[in-house]
Amino acid sequence: MEKLKNYIDGILIAPFSNNYINSYDPATGEVFTMLPDSDNEDVELAVKSAENAFPHWSSLSAEKRAEYLLKIAGLIKNNIEKFASAESRDNGKPVQLARSVDIPRAVKNFEFFASAVTQFSSESHHTGTDILNYTLRQPIGIAGAISPWNLPLYLFSWKIAPALAAGNCVIAKPSEVTPLTAYMLSEICIEAGLPNGVLNIIHGYGHKAGSAIVSHPEVKAITFTGGTKTGKDIASVAGPMLKKISLELGGKNPVIIFNDCKYDEMLETTVRSSFTNQGEICLCGSRIFAEKDIYEKFKTDFVKKVKALKTGDPLNADTDIGAIVSKQHYEKILYYIDLALKDGGKILCGGNPVELKGRCKSGWFIEPTVIEGLDHNCRANQEEIFGPVVTIMPFENEEEVLQKANSTEYGLASVIWTNDLSKAHRVSANIHSGIVWVNCWMVRDLRTPFGGMKNSGVGREGGLEALRFFTESKNVCIKI
Ligand code: NDP
Repeated sequence: MEKLKNYIDGILIAPFSNNYINSYDPATGEVFTMLPDSDNEDVELAVKSAENAFPHWSSLSAEKRAEYLLKIAGLIKNNIEKFASAESRDNGKPVQLARSVDIPRAVKNFEFFASAVTQFSSESHHTGTDILNYTLRQPIGIAGAISPWNLPLYLFSWKIAPALAAGNCVIAKPSEVTPLTAYMLSEICIEAGLPNGVLNIIHGYGHKAGSAIVSHPEVKAITFTGGTKTGKDIASVAGPMLKKISLELGGKNPVIIFNDCKYDEMLETTVRSSFTNQGEICLCGSRIFAEKDIYEKFKTDFVKKVKALKTGDPLNADTDIGAIVSKQHYEKILYYIDLALKDGGKILCGGNPVELKGRCKSGWFIEPTVIEGLDHNCRANQEEIFGPVVTIMPFENEEEVLQKANSTEYGLASVIWTNDLSKAHRVSANIHSGIVWVNCWMVRDLRTPFGGMKNSGVGREGGLEALRFFTESKNVCIKI
């Protein structure tokens, strides 16, 4: 069985411990590869190599760094099929989703930040007639990047690309659950001739390799995407060390459907915003509020469409819902379905594991599930399930729905469906989330700020916000 390797100082090497972790194909439940169980010795080596690489990398022109990023983007694009099937196998997502969204967006991340850094400028301020202030934005040094399993290469590259573009060296850890495309990225970086030590990819557990990155004194900034609890743990270590921190955390996103919306478009998109990637996207809407006079119609039409979704082998072209990423996560989702039932919820469709035949007979699959009759304060409506499970609830008016939508500890994204422009502006302004989609979902322009309020995160990534995060601002004040 193939053993993945760490990418340190430009080469692929085994972990110091020589220990490996099993990696499972969630569609079959079988181990299909092994990844390094890295620890602080591997991280130490990566830090040394990044320190050596930093003076040269940070002194290259933005155009030169952009050339490397574009080379990496091009090589991923040339291997899109290979990357898409690896992502599907590792994560359980339908291969057509990996082919049309995950991998193209990873390519875009490299392309976008290659271009953005060449447009990055800073301010100058003239103070009276004889004083000039200007701002230098200089790379920080070594940045640590830690990412989750749901959009493996997409989110990994979302962090790595701006950090490298801004002139930093990076030590990155993908989720131990989905290491494969990060490993393939290290092969691509070697092929692209990225200078040794500029990017180091360390595999392993969060509590070992991840925490060694976070606590290393030479790693000056941490960009993390993952669960809120892990984010708090990371902040408790990195905060007292006065590191720069960007945390993109969990969500419990509301979808608010007013009776004046474009109904068919809303229905189509709400199925996608509920169940794309098995609901394992931090931006999926999991609490659906429909205005009272269209609630029954919405319920009937929505459930009919959800029942028509096909759960199956992620490698089949007609599969809508693939496998749940791990056995542990599969059990967590089933636990929440059970909890919702105990709290008085009524399952309108789904609610059960799916047993497939043939290759996928031992895989982890769950039917897309719609639940009604729950109080907005119950645990299934307050805690992140992060699976193919949504709840639906009627509401009477704007005030009530805003209060309920804002009632969780999270504030990542929200979706509003209305044709009334004033209402759209009003609700957008009053909803507690970092991203608001009106009459659409998952439309991404990489120039926009991305991140969450409340327990959904600290800081913003995307566009110039990311380049600002990965640089240190310095004010130079000159008397002329
Ligand atoms: P986790 O928080 O469990 O893990 C995320 C990453 O952090 C993994 O690489 C993990 O390693 C690592 N890690 C765990 N503990 C530590 C530690 N003490 N120090 C350093 N690193 C650590 O999240 P999941 O992987 O389960 O991802 C799902 C979560 O991610 C959901 O809550 C989802 O909402 C959130 N998410 C947020 C997004 C956003 O943009 N706001 C986007 C996508 C997902 P290991 O592999 O060992 O667990």
